Amino acid sequence: MTTDRRAAVLAGLPELLPELEELYRDLHRHPELSFAEHETARKLAARLSTAGYEVHTGIGGTGVLGVLRNGPGPVVLLRADIDALPVQERTGLEYASTVRATDESAGGHEVPVMHACGHDMHATWLTGATRLLARQRDQWSGTLLAVFQPGEEVGDGAAAMVRDGVLEHAPTPAVVLGQHVVPGPAGWVLTRPGVLMAATDALRIVLHGRGGHGSRPETTVDPAVLAASVVLKLQTIVSREIAATEQAVVTVGSIRVGTAHNIIADQATLEVNVRTFEEPVRERVLAAIRRIVGGEAAAAGAPHPPEITEITRFPVTSNDEAATNELATVFQDHFGAQRAMPAPLVTGSEDFGEFGRAAGAPSVFWLVGGLDEGEVTAAAAAGRFEQDVPSNHSALFAPVLHPTLSTGVETLVVAALRWLDAPTVG
Ligand code: ZN
Ligand code: ZN
Repeated sequence: MTTDRRAAVLAGLPELLPELEELYRDLHRHPELSFAEHETARKLAARLSTAGYEVHTGIGGTGVLGVLRNGPGPVVLLRADIDALPVQERTGLEYASTVRATDESAGGHEVPVMHACGHDMHATWLTGATRLLARQRDQWSGTLLAVFQPGEEVGDGAAAMVRDGVLEHAPTPAVVLGQHVVPGPAGWVLTRPGVLMAATDALRIVLHGRGGHGSRPETTVDPAVLAASVVLKLQTIVSREIAATEQAVVTVGSIRVGTAHNIIADQATLEVNVRTFEEPVRERVLAAIRRIVGGEAAAAGAPHPPEITEITRFPVTSNDEAATNELATVFQDHFGAQRAMPAPLVTGSEDFGEFGRAAGAPSVFWLVGGLDEGEVTAAAAAGRFEQDVPSNHSALFAPVLHPTLSTGVETLVVAALRWLDAPTVG
């Protein structure tokens, strides 16, 4: 009986929780930026090793793979990302981060660092699940792959691990599984077959003008005015070119132009973030950006055409329909319909999909609520969810430890057991 196997594996969870709580607080207090997760990786690898896993480190930079070969049967890949963000933590938690680090991707500037996306929770969940599944290995048969992935926030960590051979240590997985903590009530588990999360295209646009004295605009082509015009015109893509039944987001997150009030600059640099859920919509939005930027530059009399380069790109996160429906049934059975429910479309992006795509295996990514249930439901009831509930990447994002910690361990264990074989009775 699967239910008995679940109960047997999860029986050790309560006594493991204090240790997981300690690991979580430690990871939260010591966040590391994308591809700089050296200490994080070391701590996670040491725990895998203690639990009896064959451990491979340094995959795709700082990635870690744990392999537990436990007899014949399917291969199941569980993935957690481990990197943090350049955010100044303002949660006021006793275990809040005060870390600062050099951000190579931001030109070597010193930045504050925070686990503002909850990847410390993901790493702790996977550590808990790998420990329980190793301890109760007489309850299943097959091979377990535990992947701790670096560099998710910059979009290249999963691809880097794949390029570095993370999938070459075992046969093709029967399924690839992953999860993310979100600003929903702690203990809730949300699944969605098909497309769950958006594709991201991040672009850098350099607009060329002709600089000069702030008092003599007639001698210049002012890139500040050109940039302002581009920013406003880009807003017409979603409002005027995308149907009401389709979804897209176009955000200009950064504008840099000029050094002083009395100087007209030579150029302006914009950074644009695009979210879409369907390839035809994505292509239309990107083409519209190129058209508008080129047209505005020409209208301003720019001396050179603008340059548009890709900063990063995430694919759509799309869940295998059959595997997700199976999993939704398993979660409903284990957590009950009050806690296991359908997920909405998410405009955030993930590079999790790279593993399933590279392996040619079905993959499922789901969401686990991590915030105080009372606060979330009160905010929702007051129509103030968006205003009052901090989301991932916010300086105030602070998952509650219970029952968030145990929920994310349980999801991984019951999901893995759904695909791992029952032990052969010998
Ligand atoms: Zn994130
Ligand atoms: Zn994340």
